[in-house]
Amino acid sequence: MVRDLHYGKFSVHYQPQINTINRELFGIEALCRWDRGQETPINPDVFVALAEDFNFISELDIWVLDQVCHQLTKWQDKGIEIPMTSVNFSPVSLNNLNTHSRILATLNKHQIPTDKITIEITEGKKIHYSDAVISSLNHLNALGIKFSLDDFGIGYSNFKRLTRIPVSQLKLDRSFVLNLPENLYKEISASTLSIGKKLGLSVIAEGVENTEQLEILEDLGCQIYQGYMFSKPLSEADFENWFFNISNRWGR
Ligand code: C2E
Ligand code: MG
Ligand code: MG
Ligand code: MG
Repeated sequence: MVRDLHYGKFSVHYQPQINTINRELFGIEALCRWDRGQETPINPDVFVALAEDFNFISELDIWVLDQVCHQLTKWQDKGIEIPMTSVNFSPVSLNNLNTHSRILATLNKHQIPTDKITIEITEGKKIHYSDAVISSLNHLNALGIKFSLDDFGIGYSNFKRLTRIPVSQLKLDRSFVLNLPENLYKEISASTLSIGKKLGLSVIAEGVENTEQLEILEDLGCQIYQGYMFSKPLSEADFENWFFNISNRWGR
C-alpha cells in the first residue's frame, strides 16, 4: 500500500455538490481511488479501514490533500474556479496534532486559501479527541478551515460531536436518502435539516439518485446535493468536461 502511494497507483476523483436554489456549484468532494491494475478493486471504505489499522492513514489523507491543492491550482490556471473543496480525513488522522500542522503546511505550500477547504470527518471508529486536539481543531477553524460531519447520524457521527468540534456542515447520510420516501427516513432527514438550520450549518444530502428523493428533500428545505443524479465522482479530465458542458444543466 505504501509502495503503491509512491508509485502513483492512488488517484483522486471529484464529485460535484450542487446548490439547486442558485443553480451553482457549491463545491466538490475529493474521493481517493486505488488502482490495482488487474487485481480486484478495493473500495475506499475498505482500504481506508486498512490504512487506519496499519497506521498509514494520515500519510494517505495528507497525500490526497496535497493532490487536491495541486489540482486546484491547475484548474485555477484554466479558469475553473471551485468555491469549496471537501477532503475526507479519518478521525485517526485528525487525532494527531502532527496532521494538523501538515494540513497547514500543505495549503501553504500550494498557496491555497484556508477558506477554500472543508475537512469531512468520517466517524467509523470511536475516537476520543483530547482537549489539545480539540483546541487545535478550533485553531484550524479560526484560520478559515471548515469542518463537516460526514455520514451524520451513522456510527460515531452524532450530536455529541457537534458539542466538541467546530462544525460548519452536516452531511445527511446516503442510507437515509436511499430510503425516501419512507416516512421514518423523511422524519430523520427533516430533523437533520432542522438542526442544521437552527445551528446555522449547511446540510448536504448525500447519495441523491432520483427526482423523487430530490423533490422530497427540496420540500424539507434542503439546498445542497451530492449524488449520482447530478454526477458520479469524476477523474480530472471528466470533471473538466462536466464543468464546462454539463454543470449549468442543473438547478430548478
Ligand atoms: P463518503 O465520504 O461518505 O463519500 C461518499 C461516498 O458515496 C463515495 O463513495 C461516493 O462515490 C458515494 N456516492 C456518492 N453519490 C452516490 C450515489 O448517488 N449513489 C451511491 N450508491 N453512492 C454514491 P466512495 O468514493 O466509494 O468512498 C467511500 C468512503 O471512503 C467515503 O465515504 C469516505 O468515508 C472514504 N474515503 C474516500 N476517500 C477518502 C480519503 O481520501 N480519506 C479518507 N479518510 N477517507 C476516504
Ligand atoms: Mg465524505
Ligand atoms: Mg458521506
Ligand atoms: Mg461514507
